[in-house]
Amino acid sequence: MRDLTKELLELVRLASTDLPPDVEKRLREAAASEEPGSAARGAMDTILANVALARGNSTPICQDTGTPLFFVRFPEGWSPRSLREQIKAAVAEATKKTYLRPNAVDSLSGKNTGNNLGDEHFPTIHFEEADGDTLTVELILKGGGCENVGAQYSLPNDALKAGRDLEGVRRAALDAVYRAQGEGCAPGFLGIAIGGDRGSSYIASKEALRHKVGDVNSNPDLAALEARITQEGNQLGIGPMGFGGKSTVLGAKIAPTYRLPASFFVTISYMCWAYRRRMMTVSGEQVSYE
Ligand code: SF4
Repeated sequence: MRDLTKELLELVRLASTDLPPDVEKRLREAAASEEPGSAARGAMDTILANVALARGNSTPICQDTGTPLFFVRFPEGWSPRSLREQIKAAVAEATKKTYLRPNAVDSLSGKNTGNNLGDEHFPTIHFEEADGDTLTVELILKGGGCENVGAQYSLPNDALKAGRDLEGVRRAALDAVYRAQGEGCAPGFLGIAIGGDRGSSYIASKEALRHKVGDVNSNPDLAALEARITQEGNQLGIGPMGFGGKSTVLGAKIAPTYRLPASFFVTISYMCWAYRRRMMTVSGEQVSYE
């Protein structure tokens, strides 16, 4: 099978050092919405200057280069086992080149492997066989600080007055943002899953972050709820890095999944402003990135 290690290394470099245009555009809009001279505006201007420096110097956008989450859609005939080895080789090489900080730590001994390779969950790689003859590899680098403020709710939740409906989802999502209080490096983006079991709900909430910022949910009720959560999140006054201000939530994506009659989970994966998300497409000899 074809060796794509070099191309995968470029995917990791891009993800770590070059913020996607849709994310940067949203950050610029957020900066413009803050009062000139305010702490919030200062934080946003610093973030944007940092984004430009990282791109220019090919250095990581943030010192925490996060958990690498790969989503691979491969055509029939490709070997997931071989692709996994190539991805791991690219991750180890990216660590050597300092595109990634060594982040894989043995939970029991505290020992860092030094190359971002741990067990089968680190890096996380999801495979799916797809129709056609195009291979796509998406990569999200999910920072630890924002991962720490992710949350899962089992509805109904009496304290939040949150029932098993979209109003309950809204209350849970806003509670998660409120509790974070800017930790996890606001302003950020929300991936929200409704349903599933505890594990699949977390996975679905992360998969929701694969969408581009401007994507509109095909379900009009969910599209309206995404807009409302974003708007109301910004009314909490938490602001960039918790300094206060108008920019706390820069977007929300909701993914509904099936659930057991007994359960109704709402899971929120919070993504910091350093929303590092890139995709590589291989079609014949052509390799492209977005
Ligand atoms: S939460 Fe995001 S921006 Fe903050 S330190 Fe972690 S990776 Fe960096």
